[in-house]
Amino acid sequence: MTQIYNFSAGPAVLPREVLLTVQQELTDWHGSGMCVMEMSHRGKEFTQIIHEAEADLRKLLGIPKNYKVLFLQGGAHLHFSMIPLNLLPENGTIDVVNTGHWSKIAIKEMKRFAKVNVIASSEDRNFSYVPAESTWQRSKEASLLHYCANETIGGVEFADIPKSEVPLICDMSSTILSRPMDVSKFGLIYAGAQKNIGPSGLCIAIIREDLLGKSRANTPTMMDYSVHADAESMYNTPPTFGIYVAGLVFKWLLNQGGLVAVEQKNIEKASLLYETIEASNGFYHCPVDKPFRSRMNVPFNIRNEKLDDDFLAGAKAAGLLQLKGHRSVGGMRASIYNAMPIEGVRVLCEYMRTFAKSHG
Ligand code: PLP
Repeated sequence: MTQIYNFSAGPAVLPREVLLTVQQELTDWHGSGMCVMEMSHRGKEFTQIIHEAEADLRKLLGIPKNYKVLFLQGGAHLHFSMIPLNLLPENGTIDVVNTGHWSKIAIKEMKRFAKVNVIASSEDRNFSYVPAESTWQRSKEASLLHYCANETIGGVEFADIPKSEVPLICDMSSTILSRPMDVSKFGLIYAGAQKNIGPSGLCIAIIREDLLGKSRANTPTMMDYSVHADAESMYNTPPTFGIYVAGLVFKWLLNQGGLVAVEQKNIEKASLLYETIEASNGFYHCPVDKPFRSRMNVPFNIRNEKLDDDFLAGAKAAGLLQLKGHRSVGGMRASIYNAMPIEGVRVLCEYMRTFAKSHG
């Protein structure tokens, strides 16, 4: 059977080692006689699972003690409204940087509850870059700054963490755990799990403790960060199976040497793919300016877009799946999260070279 490599943007490929462990433990977790799906979330078995998952995540990211880790539901989407409801007063203002699709959705939703100030945008050039920080028009009245560290659809990634005097809020859905970072620079980090963490249905938030307890009076209980922090993510039934799989992914990352080692692999994978695009004499084109090219999501177009369907059909036959770009931008996109082995990227590059040769 052909070896399959899955380039989906999310839900995305999970490490095979993790899935094999899940398979082995599926009907009997550690001699408990139960599947994790069947366990009470308040029982001793699941308590061990969630505590270990949190401890391993803290180890991986070096999360300081004054930050809470929350295992939530509602996806990254729910944070777009949780952020203003929890962290801004009724007439509060948030500064935002607009670098693409997910920034725009966040802005639209946050506007329902707050004054949103777009302090920089790359819409003028179709979201192909990150505006230089020196050009950001920060507002005096803003008490938060929001940005999306990696635009999953556009393939634009911030190389550095922006400076901010107000708490920095980051949508890290598609880049969390891909490189080491200084969590202490953030007020709140949130990330849907379905890319670098585990199955969809789980969303992780990492929040500085002093930002808790300030929600508006009308904040729905389920949307109050403090409620989840006080209840240690057990206010209601948490997504137990997702937390279990995420915990296995964290162990898998630690076993590889942690995020320093993981980052090196990610740099290598992304370089191979971008070099293949660059070396194609224009047959393939990446629409993103070089310094901002994402290590996680690599969008590219074929010069003659009439070849798109052939490219995708041939890729599928070669075991290279889910390479079609997002419907809003077209073209191709190869998502190469942590769980994509370098061999998968090599096979894709070889396929791209062969396709270009036979269709150029
Ligand atoms: N933010 C980013 C950067 C994403 O890539 C996505 C989903 O792909 C979202 C937010 C929305 O996540 P969810 O579907 O978990 O709400």
